Amino acid sequence: KKSSLTEVKIAVLGAPGVGKSALTVRFLTKRYIGEYDHQAETRYKHEVMVDSEPILFEILDTCPKNDEELPLNEVYNWADALVLVFAITDRRSFNYVRRVKQTMLDAFEMPVALVANKADMVHLRQVSTEEGEILAKDFECCFTEVAAAEQVGQIAEVFLEVCREVLSVRRKNK
Ligand code: GDP
Ligand code: MG
Repeated sequence: KKSSLTEVKIAVLGAPGVGKSALTVRFLTKRYIGEYDHQAETRYKHEVMVDSEPILFEILDTCPKNDEELPLNEVYNWADALVLVFAITDRRSFNYVRRVKQTMLDAFEMPVALVANKADMVHLRQVSTEEGEILAKDFECCFTEVAAAEQVGQIAEVFLEVCREVLSVRRKNK
């Protein structure tokens, strides 16, 4: 029998070192490991209950080699939604998500969640909460400040919420 599980594909995008892998692993395993493979792009498949419906999450944890390397169009073609991550400690990573959004232009419309990670490192903050909120308004998306190093629930909520948006768009287009 063919599985009729609903699939939701999410690409996690952001500059190197912002915590994309830490956030992804937190969501999938509830654990924080601290060090991850920095070389390889990783795909995960994981079943999660979303509002008592089983959803097969496919998550692409991308791995740009540097600040200049932007996601390819095939990533946007593949994804149902994007989680755009920057680190509050890294101004350049904030500019990176801005550039990602600009290069997508209007060619790709899909639910987006903007995430500011490393909120535990307030003493090294380079990007204010307000700047994040303003960018999210510009993107017309939600914004959450998190610390993969410390949180579980709030990070899961980002993935669940963007999944709910995907499901809601699909229902409307039916
Ligand atoms: P990626 O390149 O975007 O996948 O980033 P990683 O997930 O590999 O994380 C890069 C570094 O930042 C690692 O040393 C992590 O331990 C660290 N890191 C990730 N999330 C947090 C966080 O919330 N707080 C702090 N202090 N460090 C973090
Ligand atoms: Mg990584």
